[in-house]
Amino acid sequence: MSFSVVATLVAMQALVLATGEPIEFIYWAFAMACPVFVSAPVSFVLVRQAEANQRLNLALLVAQRELMTQADRDHLTGVLSRAAFYRHAEAYDGDAPASVLLADIDHFKAINDGHGHALGDAALRLVASTLQAALRPDDLLGRVGGEEFAILLRGMPMPLALAIAERARGAIAGLCMRAADGSPVALSISVGVASYAAGMSLDVALAQADQAMYSAKRNGRNRVMVSD
Ligand code: GH3
Ligand code: MG
Ligand code: MG
Repeated sequence: MSFSVVATLVAMQALVLATGEPIEFIYWAFAMACPVFVSAPVSFVLVRQAEANQRLNLALLVAQRELMTQADRDHLTGVLSRAAFYRHAEAYDGDAPASVLLADIDHFKAINDGHGHALGDAALRLVASTLQAALRPDDLLGRVGGEEFAILLRGMPMPLALAIAERARGAIAGLCMRAADGSPVALSISVGVASYAAGMSLDVALAQADQAMYSAKRNGRNRVMVSD
């Protein structure tokens, strides 16, 4: 506003100097009133509008980021979806040896058949959160099939990965779920572990972990086996 007032004053003074004609007081007063009563409220509204736009843009960015995060998540368990797990795992640069795990819930169909789909869903959520708790924040956990989870342990060579897999298996086996009638529902997982070295395809590593997981099934379930 002060800029408008000063600019008007300068312009009018220049007009006086150029024409040599004095300007009456009423015109000076009118010329001053315009910037004060017009540009001040207009500037105020414009500034408020710009601030509101800035706030809206920020909210939009946050919402967009939130949507992208949600799209990456499996709707039931909250861990990474299959597609997101593959995308993130394939982006691993592999500068340190890593390992992949495939964990499949044992006799899960029997839980659904015996206690209903809702308890099956609750079991899936519980297994996912228990696996997540057994991992470091940097590790990737995804639900890659109905009752099947994949894990990428970044920078973790085989002996350590085996220990993590064993810890996760033990944690699941130690869970105690109750059916609606109060009867206990046992949970266990079979886990296959494979190396995921630099330059190796994720599909190959997961196929090896899958074979090891099926060996664990054949050998009695509720166990960890390493790909040979
Ligand atoms: P195994 O020990 O050999 O792995 O036996 P399993 O019964 O776990 O394996 P199977 O492949 O026979 O059954 C998997 C079941 O998982 C069948 C399917 O109905 C169930 N399932 C898949 N997705 C979901 C889900 O989102 N919710 C529930 N409640 N069940 C699911
Ligand atoms: Mg399965
Ligand atoms: Mg199963």
